[in-house]
Amino acid sequence: MDDHKDDKYEETELEKKDSVSEEKKEDDSGSDYEDVCFICRRPESKAGKMFRLPNHICVCDDCMHKTMDTVSQFDYQGLLNNPNMGNGGNGQGFPNISFVNLADLQGDGGIPNKQKPKKKKKEKAAEIDIRDIMPPHKIKQKLDEYVVGQEYAKKVMSVAVYNHYKRVATRTMDEIEIEKSNMLMIGPTGCGKTYLVKTLAKLLDVPLAIADATSLTEAGYIGDDIESVVSKLLAAADNDVERAERGIIFIDEIDKIAKKKNTNSRDVSGESVQQGMLKLLEGAEVEVPVGANSKNAMVPLATVNTRNILFICGGAFPDLDEIIKQRLNKKTSIGYSAELKDKYDKEKNILSRVTVEDIRKFGMIPEFIGRLPVIFTLEGLSRDMMVQILKEPRNAILKQYQKLLELDEVELLFNEEALEAIADKAMEKETGARALRAIIEEFMLDIMYEVPKDDNIGRVTITREYIEGNGGPIIDIRSRSAEHPDRLNVIQQPADGS
Ligand code: ADP
Repeated sequence: MDDHKDDKYEETELEKKDSVSEEKKEDDSGSDYEDVCFICRRPESKAGKMFRLPNHICVCDDCMHKTMDTVSQFDYQGLLNNPNMGNGGNGQGFPNISFVNLADLQGDGGIPNKQKPKKKKKEKAAEIDIRDIMPPHKIKQKLDEYVVGQEYAKKVMSVAVYNHYKRVATRTMDEIEIEKSNMLMIGPTGCGKTYLVKTLAKLLDVPLAIADATSLTEAGYIGDDIESVVSKLLAAADNDVERAERGIIFIDEIDKIAKKKNTNSRDVSGESVQQGMLKLLEGAEVEVPVGANSKNAMVPLATVNTRNILFICGGAFPDLDEIIKQRLNKKTSIGYSAELKDKYDKEKNILSRVTVEDIRKFGMIPEFIGRLPVIFTLEGLSRDMMVQILKEPRNAILKQYQKLLELDEVELLFNEEALEAIADKAMEKETGARALRAIIEEFMLDIMYEVPKDDNIGRVTITREYIEGNGGPIIDIRSRSAEHPDRLNVIQQPADGS
């Protein structure tokens, strides 16, 4: 590398006042000592030419090569995966030293997978084949297995969803652009709006995001901004943009963003949210943060097109019935024979007569209603429907409890009157089917607690008296017959009233 032969060259280099040459000069000038290898301690005369490193360190040719070989063969990955690393070492790794895998840092600056948008697959792979779309009658059939009643709503939804995905599959049909089938569902609380949408998304195998309109505010105000619903959908689709773009967004409590009447302050959570949603409903490219709720410098963004996202809005629209009645009454009073004003008071399903005009009067802006072309209502649940909900759907609450006790080899039965009593109690609460689970959980708690205590219990029958607090369930114990000790028979015991 540098020997003493070329003194002239050394001189010129020194003149340049190069710092490295300064060092060399010091080493070379007036030194009567041989350089010694820093690693093997052999002098230059034995080890041969030296590599000179900063701080007067010399390394011989052999040692330098050995070092380079060791470094290049070093198993960083093995070290990283070594469970003993850092706690004293096991002879393989360096104790208390961790290695950074450079590959992890490349490209995304070390962003974890959770925050990385999946790459868009090729256009072809993402296309939906029109023959794969479930026809409306099949969709309804599937919905029937889970959702009790609501025949009209199920039918409308099945057709709307079918048309929606046909539209997605065909993009445009010649010059005729098929309109989006965004929906507005109106129905009292607990009648199955959310449940219908959830079931629909599950059976179509598309991602679903559920958002509450009350939490949304215009961008820049406290609350979630409107685009956060798309972010939720992206998360539900495992950050797969393609899948998210074919998903469903359900916005509940949409009636809560009705235009505020007689207000002078800025309506940041009402009309402006409706305004803000217009673009999303129609189809827009939005930049959403991946793996987080809000945009900030640390979060990567993905662009999602909402053109093919199906929006379903739902709400109870309290007092909408009054608006409908008013309109109907006005119509009749203009007519030849003005009828009684309270004619519609007794009509049970007055909501089903809703028109766009009524919804506008309620406080939804016309542009907003215009982007939800499929409007339908759900009925409030009757006592009979409640009883059916208890026992009929595929995952009915009673079936769930029966399954749980079956695992303890105990049969659980409900008298028909007991079911009616539960339904009556739920009707009083006026929260729809939501009340059912709460009521059942209350009295099933004791049974679930007591039954495993006694191996002899073979069957439990829930009675109306037990639900109403006037008696106990019927407990049947099992007995082993003398001839077949392995077979259990159930013997009925009188209700103990406990
Ligand atoms: P909401 O109309 O307020 O959105 P939900 O859909 O959340 O009401 O209903 C609450 C629960 O009640 C659901 O999870 C479901 O178990 C049950 N439920 C409501 N309506 C029905 C129905 N028609 N058929 C079966 N279950 C229902």
